[in-house]
Amino acid sequence: MTEFDSNRRALMAGAAMTGAAAATGAAFAQTDQSGGGEAPMTSQAADFPKPPYPRQQQPWPGLAQEMDPQPDHGEETYRGTGRLQGKRALITGGDSGIGRAAAIAFAKEGADVAICYLEAEEPDAQDVRRVVENEGRTFAAFPGDLRDKSYTTGLPQRAVEELGGLDILVNNAAYQQWVPGLEDLSDEQFEQTMKTNLYAMFWLTKAALPHLRPGAAIINTSSEVAASPPEILIDYSMTKAAILSFTTTMAKNLASRGIRVNAVTPGPIWTPLQVSGGQKPENLPQFGASTPIGRAGQPVELAPLYVALADPAFSYSTGQVFGATGGDPQPAG
Ligand code: NAD
Ligand code: MG
Repeated sequence: MTEFDSNRRALMAGAAMTGAAAATGAAFAQTDQSGGGEAPMTSQAADFPKPPYPRQQQPWPGLAQEMDPQPDHGEETYRGTGRLQGKRALITGGDSGIGRAAAIAFAKEGADVAICYLEAEEPDAQDVRRVVENEGRTFAAFPGDLRDKSYTTGLPQRAVEELGGLDILVNNAAYQQWVPGLEDLSDEQFEQTMKTNLYAMFWLTKAALPHLRPGAAIINTSSEVAASPPEILIDYSMTKAAILSFTTTMAKNLASRGIRVNAVTPGPIWTPLQVSGGQKPENLPQFGASTPIGRAGQPVELAPLYVALADPAFSYSTGQVFGATGGDPQPAG
């Protein structure tokens, strides 16, 4: 069985697409307004790589640079229209994958961006720096380990010092390693998954609150596995469900302060996480094939969701869950 089992795909596909379409509509409409002769981003979807993908494996945490095919994070394909002009964002795991796509899209929408990532990922982080600075935006890089409480709780203050404030927090970094069964799940792995995916989100959100003003947004990356956990992702799936719960309580807790909190539930997306132990290597060639769309998603396909959820124009949406699952069922909020 793969992480993204075809048995559970059909039931809520309509609901998943409705949420995504509602969130991204503005982005596509604005593409048309500014588009001139160029094709809108959506037309490129047909050209995204389809299965089978080359079998590959990297040591954790993996590099986007080393993947084949290269993930599309929107370096060339995402086109901004100023939706986040002057905003300041902090994104965990912003070096690669979905976090990088958010970082690039935010910069192209006019935001300054700080990312955190592990030291081993510096080559990927430098690629992000080039794109963000090429957009004329301020870029700050904070390498370090989110399991270290003092490092993590210091990040919001550092972002404020580098960017001049903080308007958007994206809790996106995660640890995912598949195991055959519970006997194979070590205490060390369990702790690493909990510390990275939950403790860091708790520490970082708490430390960010003093800096967030009305209109600020928190975006948490969950997963479609929150509702339909695969048998090989025991600890990881627990955290992705907990992230939805945290999103709901924080949305209620922070609404009166004008701070919105929403979650994104990706389906199978072509990122380093999957080729560095997140997935069985033998499943990678068919990664995403069981979704109705029939392929893995590319990180850039998530970018319009993160932009929409960061955009203050989305002012009546908090505590919501937005899917980008290729048509797979997605968790309800
Ligand atoms: P990715 O590997 O590109 O990003 C994960 C990032 O987490 C890494 O780049 C790394 O910088 C960061 N990270 C991990 N452990 C860390 C630590 N101890 N300290 C600091 N940073 C650490 O992979 P991705 O798929 O883009 O993952 C981003 C988010 O998307 C994660 O929350 C993941 O659970 C979620 N997600 C991914 C998929 C998928 O199919 N790729 C599906 C559903 C949800
Ligand atoms: Mg990375």
